[in-house]
Formats: sequence, C-alpha cells, structure tokens
Amino acid sequence: MNPPQQTFLRDAMRTLRMTRESFALRLGCTKRALDTWLLPDESKEFRAMPEVARKFITEILANARGVAVSAAAAHHGLTQDETVPNKEFGVLSHLLSVDQFSRESADALCALADAMQPVARRRKTCRVLEGAVLANLFFEASTRTRLSFASAFNRLGGSVSDTTGFTYSSMAKGESIHDTSRTVSGYADVMVVRHPDQGSVRQFAAATNIPVINGGDGAGEHPTQALIDLYTVQQEFSRLGKLIDGAHIAIVGDLKYGRTTHSLIKLLSLYKRMRFSLVSPPSLEMPEEICHLIAQRGHNVDVSHSLSEAITEADVLYTTRIQKERFTGEAVPEFLSSYEINKKRVNELCRPDIVVLHPLPRDSRDGAFDLNTDLDGDSRLAIFRQTDNGVPIRMAIFATLLGVDGLVQRSLRDANWAVPLTLGPDDIIIEPVG
Ligand code: ASP
Repeated sequence: MNPPQQTFLRDAMRTLRMTRESFALRLGCTKRALDTWLLPDESKEFRAMPEVARKFITEILANARGVAVSAAAAHHGLTQDETVPNKEFGVLSHLLSVDQFSRESADALCALADAMQPVARRRKTCRVLEGAVLANLFFEASTRTRLSFASAFNRLGGSVSDTTGFTYSSMAKGESIHDTSRTVSGYADVMVVRHPDQGSVRQFAAATNIPVINGGDGAGEHPTQALIDLYTVQQEFSRLGKLIDGAHIAIVGDLKYGRTTHSLIKLLSLYKRMRFSLVSPPSLEMPEEICHLIAQRGHNVDVSHSLSEAITEADVLYTTRIQKERFTGEAVPEFLSSYEINKKRVNELCRPDIVVLHPLPRDSRDGAFDLNTDLDGDSRLAIFRQTDNGVPIRMAIFATLLGVDGLVQRSLRDANWAVPLTLGPDDIIIEPVG
C-alpha cells in the first residue's frame, strides 16, 4: 500500500536532503503546487499530486539510495586521517563547511530561524527535541558558540552534555579523535565540536553516523557563525530596504587566520554581483585560494592594506580580531591601530547606513586596536543583534539535522515567565520577526 502523500513527500525530501524550494525545482513544479501536495489529506487546500510525479520521485529515490549504498561501501575502512565528503545540508548530515549550502538552502535555513524567533525571544516554548541529547565538545576557548548551541538545544526541549578543553577529556590520556567520536555517538544524538586543528572536525565526522557540527576548526571554517552573519545581514538589510545581491561588503582584520571570514565570504558569494573589499595587515591576507574562488564566481574582490578607501562605499563593515593564538612564528603586525574601527572613523569614512558586524569576542585590551567600545549603543553597530541571532539559527540547524523542522509550529506553547523588553541596556528596539 502506498504511504499517505504527505508522508511520502516528506520522506523523499528528507532522504534527498532537499528543501521544498529545491525539491519543487527538481520536480519542475511550482513551490505552491508542492505546498498543496504536502498538506494533510483532510485539509481543504490539499491537492493530489499527479501519478507521474509519484513515479518520478520513486525513480529519483531509487537512484539516490543506490548512490548512498556505494558511498557507504566506499566509507568502510576509513582511517582517522581520511575525511568525509561534503553532503548537502539536511537530515542526519554533518555540517562541516558552508560549501554544503546553496543560496536556496541558506535562505531556507534563515526562514526557519525566523520561525524559531518566538522561542528564541522567550515568548513561546517548544519541545520538539524532548529526550534528545547534544554533546558539546569544545577543545578551544568559547563563550558564544558553546552557550548558544546549548541554549538552542535546550529551548527545543533537549538536554546538553559537555566537555571543555583537552585536560578534562580522555584526549589528555592519548585517546584518538576516532575513539572519542565513536564513544560519544553512544551517548548523544548530535555533536558540536570545536578543535584547534584545521580538518579535525571532519575526522570526528568520519567516525560517527550521528550529525557532527563544526563549531570552528583551527583557521579552517566556522560555518554556523557565517550563517548567523548572513541572517543578521538579511535582517539589517530588510530594515534598511536593501538587498544582498549587489552589496558591498568590507571585511577587515585577520583574514588569514580568521575562520569566520573564510566561511562568510564563501557563503555570501552564493549571492549575485557582490563586491568584497578585503582589508588586512600585509602578513594576514585572505588565503589566495578563497580569493580565487570568489573571483571565479564572478564577484569583484579588492585586496588592500588601507582602511580608508575600502570602507567608504561599503554596506557592511565586518571587522575581526587578530588571532594571535594561531600565529606560527609571525610577528604581531605593526600599525595595528590603523585597522581599528571606532566612532570617529565610522562617522568620517562610512555611509550613514553602514552595518557594523564582528563575530566577537572583541579584544578590549590596550594595544589590541580591535573594534572600539565607543560605538556601543549606536544603531549602526549590530554586534549584539548578531550574537542574539546565534540561538534561532542554531535551533534551525538542529531542527533540520534531526528532522523535526516540520513539527515546530504546532508544538509552540506560550512562555509564562517575565522577560525584559530589551536584553541589553543599550539595545535599540527593532521590529521583531515572528
Ligand atoms: N569567535 C570566533 C571564532 O571562534 C571569532 C574569534 O575568535 O575571533 O572563530
């Protein structure tokens, strides 16, 4: 007997790891038509899909399952040094790199984050992950990533186990990444890993079938931060009436070791006609292969060592910390003060509607010349809207990876506890989403 149409289509999208948009595109139908096929049979708007569509989907699925079987066979015997290939972002996939996203899937994730906002903003509660366990494995310093992943999982009803630093994990006793990862898979449903070595999170992924999320691998990538950054740019631009296509993004600071900049520029390059101004000290430029990829995708990239020209026309100024902890013998660059973003510079050099972002933490010590605190409370500074967005985006990531995204709306209940009108004393009130 055929399963109900809704179940059949949902399973197909999960198996194929496709969003509604990409699935409709693949089937050659409109998203609206697909939406009506996906309704429960008893709904007034429900439409039966044509038999030919069911046959076509069955064929695609058979094909995809064949591919999955051979991929699994190829996987057999992976050693800890081998890596897993990037799969499209979806149910039970790992999230290792922004390369797994298309523009459509990145936009779909942001739309799901919008649906999570009432929970993230503590107006509603949601229990779709009740009973599920997250393992947060952080082998490097973290405040935002570790706590916002935990908050996101908790707010979906799940619980969190964590370990921080090498000292308090069995890695201090010489345990391999493979053994740690396989062991944790027996205790948790999803893992977030931060590790100082580039490529190491892939090794965790190679040793498990539960989803592994890259929470930052050395100077490699920080994909979930880039998704937060993209979502924040979307929100700020919608307030300002701007589109991401055609935007001018200035990225400033340590572009060599700043993994968030690597992920962000690749993610934004999914949009059209972008202009990127990359400003760094000469010894800390963006890796050449990334610049090359962005230029190959048809975008305009200028590399410079001077702030003034690069930021005058920018729509977004994304500034970053110098990652001294990753230096391998390099001297701390001279003239760091010429890269400092402060109120005077923003007033004098930038457009009045500039959006200033920073992945944080900002280094507020003397001589660091990171983002100055004198912009705090200024509406152009979106850094705490950016950190707040860590929760809904990470909720959307968990819901997608664990296949409960379709259950969120109907599981919402009112939250009953008191919440302040704004979270920080300097926050400006922005039209809430959802
Ligand atoms: N928090 C970000 C990261 O983990 C940025 C930084 O540390 O500067 O990469």
